[in-house]
Parts: sequence; C-alpha cells; structure tokens
Amino acid sequence: MCFECVKISRRKFMSYAAAGAAAAGYWTVGGALSPSFAKTSMSADEALAKLKAGNQKFVSAPQLCAAELTNNRSAVAKGQSPWATILTCADSRVSPELIFGGVGLGELFVCRNAGNVADTAVMGTIEYGAEHLGSPLVVVMGHSRCGAVQAACDVVEKDAKLPGSIKPMVDAIVPAAKAMKGKSGDFVDLSVRENARLNAQKVMAESEIVKELAHGGKLKVVYARYDLDTGAVEFLG
Ligand SMILES: [Zn+2]
Repeated sequence: MCFECVKISRRKFMSYAAAGAAAAGYWTVGGALSPSFAKTSMSADEALAKLKAGNQKFVSAPQLCAAELTNNRSAVAKGQSPWATILTCADSRVSPELIFGGVGLGELFVCRNAGNVADTAVMGTIEYGAEHLGSPLVVVMGHSRCGAVQAACDVVEKDAKLPGSIKPMVDAIVPAAKAMKGKSGDFVDLSVRENARLNAQKVMAESEIVKELAHGGKLKVVYARYDLDTGAVEFLG
C-alpha cells in the first residue's frame, strides 16, 4: 500500500544524513521547534489506521467529529509532533482535520493548493514535516469533481484557455488528464485518481529526503481520493 522505496548508495546515505543533521540544527536554532519536543512514536501503518478510523467516524457519525479544543492550543503551543502529512486540494469541502474524524491542533501537517500538486513549496513542506518533525506518513489526496482537475481535462479535451496564474497551475495537472483521455469511465474522476498517483510518485521519486526515510522504514507515501458525496476516503495505493 505504498510506493516501493528506492535503494540508495551508502555514500549518498551519509551525505543526506549529514545534510539532514545540519538542517535540523538550523531549524532548531531558528526556534521552529523546541529540541525537547518529542516526535511521534507512531509508525506509518499506525498513522494510516488512525486516519482510516477517523474517516469512518466522519462518515458514520459526523456530529462527533468536532475536535476537543479546550486545552488543545496550550498543549501544543511550545512544539508540534504531527503524525501524518496530508497534501490535498484547497477545495473548501476537503478539510483534512474534519474528514479524518475531528483531529486537533498539532496532529496533521497539511499542504493544500488547487489540485493537490506537489510543487516546489509542497515538496519542501513535505520534507520538513518528515525529516524535521518526524511525520511518518504522507497522504496525497484528490477528491471527486475537483475543479482544478476539471480545468485540466478541459485544456486537454477542448483546448480551454485559462487566465493569469491559473494556467501554469493547471498545466501541472494536464499530464494526468492526458494519460486518462479516451479511457472508459468518467474522464474527470479518472484524472483525479491519476493526478493523486502521479503526485505521490513525484514525492517519492524526486525527494532524496523522502527516499532515504522510506528506505529506512520510517516513512510511507500513499495516495487517496475523497468522495464529496459520501465523505469516504478511498486509499488507492
Ligand atoms: Zn479540488
């Protein structure tokens, strides 16, 4: 249920370890995280099981999914140890903390943009969450009827012209739509799934930090689709 980690040479391992230590020192000196604040002890599989259980709760009893915030803010004010990183769409209906069962402050490390694209800022954010904060799981999650993916499908199918910065943003999703064009099934939904898969693959393929952690059994990258109608998150791979 995750991308196979890629073996890297010992020489590369040592260079990444050194780079990671230097980066950790810099970040700590920068005050982003208290050195004494423990990372989560949760494994990737445990984090995945917790997300699935939380989403099941959201589907079956959404009225119970408000986070308990009374003491939450003060408990995490001095540091954070998120147990999962979520890359998902900016769509206002896809709030990870809610759809995963009412998760409190300090638990999920979240990156969002239209179309859940792993661009440079997202790649760095995921690396920071994994390497420095110790998040053991990365979930790339698209959703049904995604407007950004719809726009990419329109570019591929109808040569749609998009204004401003929307065009280059959507261009990043076009490869997923091109790959699904002509396949049987709903074009947009197939492209949503393919876009999530491609971006999860990119996280694994292009981040040496992610590769190294995955190789060491400390990180998994999976991808998923959220259904706007049912509230269910389907983990696809
Ligand atoms: Zn969307």
